[in-house]
Amino acid sequence: MTTGSRYIFVTGGVVSSLGKGLASAALGALLIARGFSVRLVKLDPYLNVDPGTMSPHQHGEVFVTEDGAETDLDLGHYERFTGRAACRGDNVTTGQIYTQVLAAERRGDYLGATVQVIPHITDAIKRFIAEKEGSADFVICEIGGTVGDIECLPFLEAIRQFGNEVGPARALFTHVTLLPYIASAGELKTKPTQHSVKELMSVGIRPGVLLARADRSIAAEELRKISLFCNIEPGRVIPALDVGTIYEVPLTYHACGLDREVLRYFGLNAPAPDLSTWADIVRRAKAPEGEVRIAIVGKYTDVRDSYKSLYEALDHGGIASNVAVRAQMVDPEGDVEAQLEGADGVLVPGGFGARGVESKITAARWARQKRVPYFGICYGMQVAVIEAARALGGIPDATSSELGPGGTPIVGLMTEWEKGGAAVRRAAGGDKGGTMRLGAYPAVLAPGSLAARVYGRAEISERHRHRYEVNIAYRGALERAGLVFSGLSPDGRLPEVAERPDHPWFIGVQFHPELTSKPFAPHPLFTSFIAAAVAQGRLV
Ligand code: GLN
Repeated sequence: MTTGSRYIFVTGGVVSSLGKGLASAALGALLIARGFSVRLVKLDPYLNVDPGTMSPHQHGEVFVTEDGAETDLDLGHYERFTGRAACRGDNVTTGQIYTQVLAAERRGDYLGATVQVIPHITDAIKRFIAEKEGSADFVICEIGGTVGDIECLPFLEAIRQFGNEVGPARALFTHVTLLPYIASAGELKTKPTQHSVKELMSVGIRPGVLLARADRSIAAEELRKISLFCNIEPGRVIPALDVGTIYEVPLTYHACGLDREVLRYFGLNAPAPDLSTWADIVRRAKAPEGEVRIAIVGKYTDVRDSYKSLYEALDHGGIASNVAVRAQMVDPEGDVEAQLEGADGVLVPGGFGARGVESKITAARWARQKRVPYFGICYGMQVAVIEAARALGGIPDATSSELGPGGTPIVGLMTEWEKGGAAVRRAAGGDKGGTMRLGAYPAVLAPGSLAARVYGRAEISERHRHRYEVNIAYRGALERAGLVFSGLSPDGRLPEVAERPDHPWFIGVQFHPELTSKPFAPHPLFTSFIAAAVAQGRLV
């Protein structure tokens, strides 16, 4: 390919939650299948420096990258669809841009100039985008929020300028909108899309490709109408219909000509993509041979996005075993044991704070006693260890210092750990943002352990996001309680994996394996957990 990256900007209109992230990720997958290299980045208009301090209730899961950035959950989609690990430089927020500009202002870098949104903020945004130059054939750049939001404006202005500077031969604007179905008229309506494109044009951006989301097929007449009113070539109004599984999106976009039109826009030729892997994933996801019921004891029972990667990783495990995973959220405020009844597997995911913790401990006990597969992730490992210490380790008041004073804190605040050969230190009362043990750290697995068998190797590297850690000083008592620390940090100080050899499948991990699972490469812990749940289902 000729020098210089091509930039594809993805904006959204009409309503939020249209799946821009998914659309960007699927387009990335298609371009990769055509033999190009792709980098996906996300510009987020909110003022938080990163989503690490935002409630998953409001903003969905916080996705952690290899290099320890707390980022938007769309980066999870990008990784799951492209297989390429995202990094800190793939996500920026208004908060980060302003922090940068204000620091420069205080240093006196602007030499007496009045610091303004245009050009200083927009320049900082353009610099962020331009940093990706040459790193891939295509840079797909998604802009969070909805066109028309005040917060979006500096980003739209920046990408408009950027598009002008690199020229239309190297920049394409794509816009994702919604065609709502109006039951009384029996029609999909194009007017909101027309208005949204008008809004975009009013800030100087003319979309070259439009992805029209709809819950039913769009008549050729309606597509023609959009093309005419929105000034977009007929073949470039792509119907983006709801699908049964998100992994079908690359296939449906391809069938509607998205990748063909994108390449035609840039004047590029490429062989037809081989999408057989995606077709196979969809076939398996749509025709499972059975079902397993996984009870999830978490905090956010109502918002699926709060555990986005977790649900996806469970589905990947299901695809590997040809079963559908029926994930059932357990209400920690209700009767936990009654809700667990009939579960083929119990999963306690990551979490923070004291709310619902006793219910999680109850779930770990129930799974241990009933010999039902148990998978504890981060907080889920810590509660399983507390449960064992209380019931079997002779420490009836075992607790975590995260839960407040009192009791024996067998899980304590980490004040020091090692990163790349250097000690990282944290004070108890320090900042909350970005100060956890974040990103990929290695661990060494005990030979012959379940963990070592599941991974098929002795050394692993997994992503972390936690402030507390099981205190290795209690190892003796915990081993007497039947737990084995089958994974440790290389210096032997931080327990990374705990398991119960007296149980069919009981593992707690201090890290987040769900973040790296892919539909075409399910994480081995999820594959093994679902396989154990399938075996459990056969027992009852
Ligand atoms: N709250 C626990 C800690 O900070 C667990 C974190 C998590 O589950 N991600 O250590």
